[in-house]
Amino acid sequence: MEYPQESFVATTFAEDSFWARRREVVRVRTLRHQLQMLKRTGRYDAFRLKWHPSYSDPPTVYPIPNHQFWDSDIAKWIEGACYLLTDHFDDEIDAAVKELVHMIQEAQHADGYLNIHYSVVEPGKRFTNLRDMHELYNAGHLIEAALAHSLYYKNDDMLSPILKYVDLLAATFGAQEGQLPGYPGHPEIELALLRLYKATGLSKHLQLAQFFIEERGNPRGGKEKRHYYDVEAEARGESGHDLPMYFPAARSYWYQQAHAPIVDQKTIEGHSVRAMYLLTAVADLVRINQPTSGIGAKFLPAVHQLWSNMVEKKSYATGGIGSVKKWEGFGIDYSLPQGTDEGGCYAETCAAIGVMMLAERLLQVELDSHYADIMELCLYNAVLTGMSLDGKAFTYVNQLASSDQDISQRHEWFECACCPPNVTRTLGFLGGYLWSHTLKDQSAVVNVHLYTSATLSLKVSRSTVKVQQRTDWPWNGDVNFDIRTEGPPVDLRLRLRIPGWAKSWEVTPRPEQLDVRDGYLYLSTEWLQQNPQFRFSCPMQALVVRPHPLAMQPVAYVTRGPIVYCVEDADHPWEQHHFKVTQPARHVKWIKSEVLRHEIQRTIFDSTAPLREEQRSQPDRYVAIIAENGVAGELDTSAWNRQIAVESRNAVVGERRNLCFIPYYLRANRGGQGQMRVGLRVV
Ligand SMILES: [Zn+2]
Repeated sequence: MEYPQESFVATTFAEDSFWARRREVVRVRTLRHQLQMLKRTGRYDAFRLKWHPSYSDPPTVYPIPNHQFWDSDIAKWIEGACYLLTDHFDDEIDAAVKELVHMIQEAQHADGYLNIHYSVVEPGKRFTNLRDMHELYNAGHLIEAALAHSLYYKNDDMLSPILKYVDLLAATFGAQEGQLPGYPGHPEIELALLRLYKATGLSKHLQLAQFFIEERGNPRGGKEKRHYYDVEAEARGESGHDLPMYFPAARSYWYQQAHAPIVDQKTIEGHSVRAMYLLTAVADLVRINQPTSGIGAKFLPAVHQLWSNMVEKKSYATGGIGSVKKWEGFGIDYSLPQGTDEGGCYAETCAAIGVMMLAERLLQVELDSHYADIMELCLYNAVLTGMSLDGKAFTYVNQLASSDQDISQRHEWFECACCPPNVTRTLGFLGGYLWSHTLKDQSAVVNVHLYTSATLSLKVSRSTVKVQQRTDWPWNGDVNFDIRTEGPPVDLRLRLRIPGWAKSWEVTPRPEQLDVRDGYLYLSTEWLQQNPQFRFSCPMQALVVRPHPLAMQPVAYVTRGPIVYCVEDADHPWEQHHFKVTQPARHVKWIKSEVLRHEIQRTIFDSTAPLREEQRSQPDRYVAIIAENGVAGELDTSAWNRQIAVESRNAVVGERRNLCFIPYYLRANRGGQGQMRVGLRVV
């Protein structure tokens, strides 16, 4: 089994495919735009270890210096650049990667240490605040960048200094005498070390990752038999009242999933990106050791528990996670407000990328289409919405409804710039998410998780197998497969994901017996030899869907295939109140103020309205969905006049208009005032 960050090289996207066009934008425009941003903000030169004026700025999020993540911004850009250079050589990008790698080499301390902040701003204080500072997070991204660099450049220019740094970390952290029994406040290094272990085969890389995972949240850790974050806070002379901005109370270690050992955590809590990066590593540790091993038996139930809690009770329609801004993370079960003025919605782009990473690891542990369904949902919605069509503007927060405080818009960059380069690298190795495979002697098993026009080329012993899919996904559910083998025959077996959203599906020609297991259709060697060309079809249709009833949200939204839709004011110029308020109330007699009369009105979506599909080509090709007379006017609240509760049924009255739904990922690309909503109020 391989990592998608490596296996992507076997995939070629067809030039006219949905993803080839998005990746081309990233390669041609986004990489350059982000390089300019790195240069303009000082990040590009930061590994020269000179003072930058912004280092004196007070932290926007106390106590984390604003430049604390610069190492990772550079690393993620290098990583993304190396994936995209594989597609197409580019002088400017290649030169920038080489210069950055040279700076990183030069910035390394004699003992291997490598970090901008603790080299320039606080020398001598390294590893004194694992809870808040991001040293080990940065180290993890440097490891991932070095792996991508060595894969593309076939040299150790970056990997060599990073291995030296990892040696220092492996000597520093652990349970042995003289080592620090600590672990990072922001997980990332764990998943990176496991990938590094695959590349090096060195057990110390596996052991360090395992130590960080197993020690995390230990209430009786180290020699002192206390929580590590308490020990280091005391050593810093920190008062219990001196709270980080993201802690609602002292010792809110659930923020970084360190309130208890992972195996004792029952609900997913805290910062959503941290949770996903951590669980990705835990799932990978299970995969490496096998689910049936002691490690598997210990950790897999915990991953299942936390994944289920997240997907069933704490995920948005788009696959986004995290509703609370203060800690950029999870709220209580079923509390999923859509926007800031409704109680909060966060759904950070990086968090959805993290869900994809975790789902991909779980697919390797157990082939179950549920994980691929969530991976696809996040990709087309919560992740893709993070970048504009022109590839030069990004979101950090992905709310499902705009408000006056937070309109639906993108930005060219952020002070905390984790998301933009994360989208770049994800689209860079996207081919690795489409399918996974195992090869053995003269046989190959290919699991197809995502559909798009692309070809997988696998070297199997003395043969080359090519699995090609041609489709107009995500607008059409017909996928034409073509299997070709060059050289001696190969025992190929295919497993096709049957999307959970599909109402029906078929394979043409139809196999005599359909072998479906956990949402995958298993196609045998014999059948594939007889039918090297076949079609898999699952019709896509517009659906009105609703959140879980326990979410207590009287809303519905529109989906079609993997795409979640929203409404925007660009199609509804009459909309002024974020699709919550339409016309003045006619039924509330006692309110004299026009302002207040507006406040209690709602845009009501008639979820029974007929849905009509409309092919559009601007600003990109997509299917819009028109709900004919879908706005059912006003909610009749006349019975509630000066009442807290009444015995009455909700009713709608007033003028009807059409509602036009567009893919959520396309929002904020067509002008307008940034008014947008996914889940519309229904009666
Ligand atoms: Zn982010």
